[in-house]
Amino acid sequence: MHVHLYEFSRDEVRGIIESDPGIVLVSVSEDVESFQAVLSLHEEYPDRVVPCVGFHPWNIGKEPLSQVDELIRMAYRSDVACVGEVGLDKKFVPETWETQVQVFGKFVDYAVEVGGFLNIHAPGAWRETLSILADACVERAMFHWYTGPRDLMYVIGEAGLKVSLNPALKIQRKHLEIAREAPLGYIVLESDGPYNYRGLRLTPLLIREAVGIIARERGVSEQEVLEAARANSERLLHAVR
Ligand SMILES: [Zn+2]
Repeated sequence: MHVHLYEFSRDEVRGIIESDPGIVLVSVSEDVESFQAVLSLHEEYPDRVVPCVGFHPWNIGKEPLSQVDELIRMAYRSDVACVGEVGLDKKFVPETWETQVQVFGKFVDYAVEVGGFLNIHAPGAWRETLSILADACVERAMFHWYTGPRDLMYVIGEAGLKVSLNPALKIQRKHLEIAREAPLGYIVLESDGPYNYRGLRLTPLLIREAVGIIARERGVSEQEVLEAARANSERLLHAVR
């Protein structure tokens, strides 16, 4: 439910798609160039790659802000209703906060207007992000690689929004705690990647192993975890497929 697919080689993309006939790759973008790349992957694999439009908060100050309006125009033209990777980040880039809020607002408005789904990055800004979504009456959103406060996770879940679990839970204690505690109705699965997290190169190929860990830690079957995540994902993607 969250991968930077365009950053993998073509052979890797084929390998990932062939690894599991049921896998659907929700493919985020970060700027105009990556959005174009994601759109062409969707053309190649229409049923397996869901294209998402986004301007990553880390790109503020690095790429021209004029890209934001251009991305939204492109998304309208291509009928794209998945929005991501977008969000707010107080942990890694607090210095661009004001602009982040403006940019995020534009993507939230777009998602609401097209009845789409938001794929959100919010390190250090989980509460602020949720309050913007609540004010805009957003019904479909997921907080990617959730490592926020545990009490807030319940507020997110009760609002019908989701948190995603990432194979980083193999080595990130905080995330493993979320994976143990989050009610199954709240979770979706993702890998991010090909980002290298503390020596772990994240790829969708690691999701099965992560499901095994989640199931074992919770004392449920892998099937139960997979079925819950699939049903939750379907609910989010309902609007975009
Ligand atoms: Zn990402």
